[in-house]
Amino acid sequence: MASIIQALPTEVVYLITAGEVIDSLSAVVRELVENSLDAGATRIVVSLWPQNWRVRVADNGRGMNLDDLQQAAAAHSTSKIRSSADLWKITSLGFRGEALHSLTTLADLEIFSRPVGGNEGYQVVYNESGEVVKLEIAPIAPGTVVTVSNLFANCPARRQGLPTPAQQMKAVQGIIQQIALCHPQVTYQVWQNDRELFTICPAATVEQLIPQILPQVRQSDLHFCQLELPNLEKSVINLVIGLPDRCHRHRPDWVKVAINGRMIKSPELEQTILSAFHKTLPRDRYPICFLHLAISPDQINWNRNPAKTEIYLNEITFWQEQITQAINQALRISEVNIKESVQTTRVSKLLKVAEAKGGYNFQPQNRNQDHTQNYLKAVAQVSNTYIVAEHSGGMWLVEQHIAHERVLYEQLCDNWQLVAVETPIILYQLSPAQVSQLQNINLDIEPFGEKLWAVRNIPAMLQQREDCAEALLELSWGGDLQTAQVAVACRSAVRNGTPMNLPEMQKLLDDWQRTRNPRTCPHGRPIYLSLEESSLARFFRRNWVIGKSHGI
Ligand code: ADP
Ligand code: MG
Repeated sequence: MASIIQALPTEVVYLITAGEVIDSLSAVVRELVENSLDAGATRIVVSLWPQNWRVRVADNGRGMNLDDLQQAAAAHSTSKIRSSADLWKITSLGFRGEALHSLTTLADLEIFSRPVGGNEGYQVVYNESGEVVKLEIAPIAPGTVVTVSNLFANCPARRQGLPTPAQQMKAVQGIIQQIALCHPQVTYQVWQNDRELFTICPAATVEQLIPQILPQVRQSDLHFCQLELPNLEKSVINLVIGLPDRCHRHRPDWVKVAINGRMIKSPELEQTILSAFHKTLPRDRYPICFLHLAISPDQINWNRNPAKTEIYLNEITFWQEQITQAINQALRISEVNIKESVQTTRVSKLLKVAEAKGGYNFQPQNRNQDHTQNYLKAVAQVSNTYIVAEHSGGMWLVEQHIAHERVLYEQLCDNWQLVAVETPIILYQLSPAQVSQLQNINLDIEPFGEKLWAVRNIPAMLQQREDCAEALLELSWGGDLQTAQVAVACRSAVRNGTPMNLPEMQKLLDDWQRTRNPRTCPHGRPIYLSLEESSLARFFRRNWVIGKSHGI
């Protein structure tokens, strides 16, 4: 059944944010591709001739019948809503009925369309008021082909303000990628000047799609989780994160938020994501995270801005809490995701190294302990630095210092405890900035004589340390409370080169597994390397039939 396009009642038009949404070639692409998706298309071909200011979008969606075609480009005409109440039930990408009409005022518009199940297709050309000036029967497959030519021909100033064709093509690519992330089950093909530029193949899930857009990222570097919110009907958090020990970006360009099929700008939610990744990544690196919320339409007001990229979301703090929880859950290592935490690229690199050197011979010892309650069982220490841990899917090497640093850091974050010391710690020659830095992290510090300062309380973790004064000096060099916590954790963590016995190692593994972000240390270094049993089996050629390989 084809849809029925009608002009919106005036009172609804007044409620809708007015504004010009078409300001570039990429905006035309966005509007037309969104129409194709609203029409249920599974294949969308975008062709651009930027020098001619022409865009064509062809889809295999449900198409339009003759009546709809005649109404499609009239002002405020849409098949997607009828009344003001429908503004709270929006499930489509479009609803204002403005795009095609605006295009007739800014460009030449021609549509070919044939409804699914219809016998005939039509070619329609519109004038600058959106009225039909040419209508013919045309041989076309079910679906719609919209061609926009001579964009902004009647307002040269707009063209002048726009970037070069190459930059506009980049913008188009960005738009298509964003749409594809939100609607991965569709084929997108983009042509420029009659040559294919790129194709995004349909993927069952967004984590299967992302490697097409970010070729350096593999699907196994990503973790997907879905959180249904039982007390909020129809609300689901879909989250894809790049595992912080495997991938990150030098800019925050992959902190993406979408709601109900549309990428949005939400500084509040983006900040929530960045905070959830705090101290899991190396300095100045940013996470890969795509958050797609499915929210009951009555919770959203799409009317904040005509481009619909900004919204008002009810109860933003509730969402922030849920998102933080979802990310924390995704970062954790548990029985459920322990197998998939295996790092195949690193494993293969390590195996190559091992093969080249011909040696691969640490010896697990002492298996008599039963730690059935633990996923990871300490079996040996290598070089007084790495704990060899065994689990049902293989084994891990865990670097003892940074694993411990992660444990201590989280303890400090949860409980930054200062304890009074009987004999004050004396520091020499502090600058005023250093003094105020120590005050900022709540240390009790006062002048004690010429160029001397006395510190009367210290972080509890430093209590037993002989290098306490040195540690306090380090803290005085700046940074916020968290930087201080990282510094204290680093100083207090067991050093590499320290022998550990099995119970000590097991205790560390247990504590570490329980941390919120076990994959990386607070400086962003990876904490463990996993060797999957199946990789080991492959390496040792356990699939060989021994009889044959021995030539018998
Ligand atoms: P809106 O998308 O806000 O409804 P538009 O001006 O973009 O407004 O489109 C007007 C109407 O034309 C839509 O409501 C839809 O019914 C119809 N339409 C536009 N493009 C297509 C398409 N590719 N396939 C089917 N119908 C379409
Ligand atoms: Mg539209």
